[in-house]
This record gives sequence, C-alpha cells and structure tokens, in this order.
Amino acid sequence: MSIRTAEDRVLSTLNPDGTRRWMRPTLAAGHYWSRRRLVGWLLIVLFVTLPRMTVGGKQAVLFDLARRELTLFGATLYATDTLLLLLFLIGVFLGVFLLTALYGRVWCGWACPQTVYLEFVFRPLERLIEGKVKQQQALDRQTVPWRRLLKWTVFAAVSVVLANVFLAYFVPVDTVLQWVTRPPTEHPHGFAVVAVVAALMMLDFGWFREQMCVVACPYARLQSVLIDKQSLIIAYDAGRGEPRGKLHKVSDLSIGAAAAKGDCVDCDACVRTCPTGLDIRDGFQLECIACAQCADACNAVMAKVHKPAGLIGYTSQAKLERKGAGRLAVSKLRARTILYPVAICLVAGLLALAIARRGTAEVTLVRAIGAPYAVQATGDVHNMARLRIDNHSDADRQYHIALVDGGGIKLVLPRNPLPVAHGATATENLFLVTPAGAVRGKREVQVQVRDGATYDELHKFTLLGPN
Ligand code: SF4
Ligand code: SF4
Repeated sequence: MSIRTAEDRVLSTLNPDGTRRWMRPTLAAGHYWSRRRLVGWLLIVLFVTLPRMTVGGKQAVLFDLARRELTLFGATLYATDTLLLLLFLIGVFLGVFLLTALYGRVWCGWACPQTVYLEFVFRPLERLIEGKVKQQQALDRQTVPWRRLLKWTVFAAVSVVLANVFLAYFVPVDTVLQWVTRPPTEHPHGFAVVAVVAALMMLDFGWFREQMCVVACPYARLQSVLIDKQSLIIAYDAGRGEPRGKLHKVSDLSIGAAAAKGDCVDCDACVRTCPTGLDIRDGFQLECIACAQCADACNAVMAKVHKPAGLIGYTSQAKLERKGAGRLAVSKLRARTILYPVAICLVAGLLALAIARRGTAEVTLVRAIGAPYAVQATGDVHNMARLRIDNHSDADRQYHIALVDGGGIKLVLPRNPLPVAHGATATENLFLVTPAGAVRGKREVQVQVRDGATYDELHKFTLLGPN
C-alpha cells in the first residue's frame, strides 16, 4: 500500500508521511526558563497542598464527583444549584477569555499542570537518567536500554504520587489517604481508580506529551478567536532577523558583513529547543505554547555573536508591525479587555447575591400532571400534587410536611417526614383529600414544610373541585 505524503506541513509534530515526529527538545536554560522554573515549582507546591487546606471546616477545593458537589473555599454548590453553577462557569470562561486576550497562551507555557509537570518534573528526570538528546537517541538503538527501563520505572512511581494528588481534587482527601494507607483489598474500587489515573498520567507525560497541547486541548483550538493583534505572543522579529544567513567565519561578525545580513544566523537553536517542534521564524502558530524556550535559546546565540537580545521574545503582532513606525507602546485597553472585566464583575456580583440569598432548601409544590382532580365513589375529591425538595444545607435532613388550617382536608403522602441527604433532591407525590362538597371550584390551602432546624416555610396550593 503506498503512503501519500502531505504537500504542506499539517502539524509540527507530524512527519510528511503522517507518522509522529518525536520531540526531543534541547534545554535552553536562560532568563525566561529560570523564571518559569520558579513559577512552576511554586505551582507544584500549590497543586499538592491545596487539597489539604480547609476553609470553614471544608476541603478548600473539591469537585466531589460521587456526591455531585463543588466546594470552593468554603462555599458548596450542588448539582441542583443550576443557576449558581451556570454563573460560576460563565465567570470561569470570561476569566479565560480575558487572560487570553491580554496574555495569549501564556497560561499554557507557564502555569498549565501539563506543562509544569512535564517540563519541571518528567523531562528533568529524563535528562538525569537518559542524558542529553544525543544520548537519548543512542538509547533508541540499544537492544535492552536499561536506562530507559529505569526511566519508565521512575515515571511510574512519580505518576502514582501525582495520581493521588490529582484525585484529591475529586475525592475527599481523607478517602484518598485511606486508599494510600490501607491494603488494596479493603478498597478495590479506589485502588482501580488510582491505578487507571496513574497509568494515564504515565502515558501522558511519558509518551503523549506535546500532543496534548497540539491536538487534544480545546483551549488551543480557541486561540484564534480569543486573541487579537494586541495580545501577548512569542514572535520572531523578521524585520531585524532577515535576511538570515549562517556565520561561516569570525570575519562574518565584522560590521560590514553584519550590515549585509539580518541578525538571524540561521543556527536552528530556536527550533531544536521548541517542545512543540515549531520554527517560530515561520510566524505565529497555534501550536505555540508561549514557553519562551526559543527566546532563551536565541538570546544565548545573540550574546555569542555580540548582537542585542530580543530577536525572539514576548511581543504583540501590533507591536511588531508598528516597530518600523517607531510606535512601540501598545495599549492594553481595547474593547474586549474592557468588556470582559465588566462582565466578570457583573457575573461575580450576581453569583455572590445568589449565594447570599440561597436558603438551606428549595421547595416546589406543583399540581401533578394529569386530571386536575378526581372525584371518588364516596364523593371525596382527590387533588394530587408533586413536591420537590432540594436540600442545600450541610447536613442530611428530615422534612415534615403538614397542612395548615386544613379543616376536614387530609394530607396523604407515602413518607412523612421525607428524608433528603445534603446536596440531594427528593420528589414525592402527595394527595389532598377533601370531603364531598368541601371544595366548590377552587380553594387555596397552605402546606408547611419544615426540617426542625433551618427551614420552615409555607407553600400555597390551589385545590380544585366540581362547581
Ligand atoms: S515557538 Fe517558542 S514559545 Fe512557542 S512553543 Fe516553541 S519554544 Fe515555546
Ligand atoms: S536561534 Fe535566533 S539566530 Fe538561531 S535560528 Fe533561531 S532566530 Fe535565528
């Protein structure tokens, strides 16, 4: 079967025949890298300690999947808090839009756990065990590459630790600690979850790597609509760098020779260091995660050839275009960077108001679907209603349901009190039985719902009967 080759480059991480182009970036340990490493390690400490922190007696951050609860710094949202969850998600999206409009993909290169763990945990371990790029390539040719086997063993151990840290955001930290400290036979399901997550992490950080940023992450796909010409990007200053040309001898550094060429000496150091396999000199590309490794590599080269740093660096498309006109200052104030914060403040205000006004329960009492009422052989009239209780409190509750001043009207329901676990919803059909002639046309009654502690409210219901 013949293999068709692409006419143009499809992806920086694909060979023309569609096979994967393996990335083995060389490390450019410059100014940006040392700052990224500092930020990265601070974030690792935060990622690891955050699940252990408590606010108001609750885990600081917990997306409890089993209970369908989201706890953030003391506030808990339940699956039934549809409006609150919607406002929260809108706020998060607006925050991401604003960050991207201002700083482009800087989150990806500096703060995303994918990059942070890969660049500051897994790749340093890889370099420590397998050596530099050439030594790593030599291992490919060995029949039994012991160093590679050692690397995968270490990766597996680190992945198990990280899997437990990761799971502590989705399962209460005490449960995770039990999984870690008790024999697997006592919690086979928990053990299976940790094993699967650890295996996925090892696969991601050991094998999938930059593919996550290049093809899998939806955030990268949104870049083209979220950034504009003023957003911060990593770019190559073609006006200064071109025409590029290799340096062949020391005399190429003389003033006359330098004047004949641009500053780029076509050394490819920026390409060899790029974790996503880009040549930033081809212009802004969506696969760029703004990690600035190419800038660090190029700055080191510029220092060697006695040229100023900054041939590659953080800038904006507008700034690059205007440089010739001498207008370097670029305003951060533009329509989207004003509207997004306004919208964020609005959503945050609504969210705070909604949380403040949220009671410990939400009760709805409506007529059941079907005939409005039924007249029994005895002449009694049955009205059927549907009661729904969302328990928003922090404890499981028993809700007592009673009719207020019902006269001869009887309230019948299968369970009274009605138990509802915290964060859960319960629905129950209830019957209001009125003696013959007690309701002519319409009559309003009041149903009291109380939990004996935090909730006690009256709910109106209209009884219907024959005229
Ligand atoms: S082009 Fe530069 S900033 Fe972009 S991913 Fe590659 S090395 Fe990082
Ligand atoms: S590192 Fe700098 S000088 Fe070398 S190829 Fe890249 S842009 Fe040109």
